[in-house]
Amino acid sequence: MIPVMRPVLGEEEAQAVADAVRSGWVAQGPRVAAFEKEFAARVGARHGVAVSSCTTALHLALHALGTGRGGAADEVVVPSFSFIATANAVRYCGATPVFADVDEETGNLTPESVAAVLTERTRAVLAVHQGGMPADVDALRAACGDIPVLEDAACAVGSVYRDRPVGQGAPMAAWSFHPRKLLTTGEGGMITTDDPELAARLRRLREHGMSVSAADRHAAEVAIVEEYLEPGFNYRMTDIQAALGLVQLGRLAEMIARRRELAARYHELLAGLPGIRPVRDPEYGRTNYQSFWVRVSEDVPVRQGELLTLLAAEGVSARRGIMAAHLEPAYAGHPHVPLPVTERLTRGSVILPLHHELSEQEQRHVVDVLARAVDPALTR
Ligand SMILES: *Cc1c(COP(=O)(O)O)cnc(C)c1O
Repeated sequence: MIPVMRPVLGEEEAQAVADAVRSGWVAQGPRVAAFEKEFAARVGARHGVAVSSCTTALHLALHALGTGRGGAADEVVVPSFSFIATANAVRYCGATPVFADVDEETGNLTPESVAAVLTERTRAVLAVHQGGMPADVDALRAACGDIPVLEDAACAVGSVYRDRPVGQGAPMAAWSFHPRKLLTTGEGGMITTDDPELAARLRRLREHGMSVSAADRHAAEVAIVEEYLEPGFNYRMTDIQAALGLVQLGRLAEMIARRRELAARYHELLAGLPGIRPVRDPEYGRTNYQSFWVRVSEDVPVRQGELLTLLAAEGVSARRGIMAAHLEPAYAGHPHVPLPVTERLTRGSVILPLHHELSEQEQRHVVDVLARAVDPALTR
């Protein structure tokens, strides 16, 4: 089976993890601090606060903003067209996620779709860089006035927006290090921000609201008694994970170059295939191709489910398009505006395998199976 994704992990990662274990310091400590610093520098932010996942990063970011202080009346605009954690994080705060539709080409929120759902109760907008595809955040900010536009950059490490790294300049951006994304720590996440006070509060909140971090207390020469300044959480990353992340950061440029090379080959192979439209860079940026999806035209006789079955039968592990939260049972009855583009994209697209070890022969096979599926006349 050709897998849809495979993390890039080598001996260096194994060694780094072993070193962390041998050091005796396995919880949040010096390696987490080093990873935060290097990661923030890579995405052009002043501060990085490592946490246990992107889901907890999103929750913490929204919580730090005061989302949900007004209860369910507080609204946060999110795309339904995203992994479900984006919308769920709003609910963790007791606030209400308000779904906005997305752009057909990029799968991201648009100024128009967001403006259509803003109200006097909107506390924030959470823009997703879907599948690594940069969202047009300048245009979104222009449409949102004083309402903060946070970024769910779970998939977008190393993507480029108007010649700067995705996430740069965001009030807060949330990142994922799950193995389905490019850079992995097993599980893990980060919040980046330029605001030093906000960073300090996020550090506190991830660690039970403690005035002094556990790592600093252990490292201190004299006994320090901590205080608990506000109710916090345990959302810490471990030094074992950060050790992995530090090695992965060193590989990032190479990983992105490889993915873009493979995507370019898909574009060549798919050119001229009727009814199939692959995702590509927007005019204002570059995706890291965390997900390579193709839109299947409504003229194509096979539907998404059939297509996935046909691909699987030929040894190709593909996925349905990005999910739409509002179509899941967890959001049954949740009110929303019509979301026609979201529904078209989620039902009418397929994510193809893309990982560093994918060979040209395998890519040809994927495209060949796809070609036969969409045009039965091509069969043998
Ligand atoms: C994967 C993903 C998340 C969740 O990330 P975890 O690190 O697994 O919690 C959130 N948002 C988006 C857009 C994602 O793709």
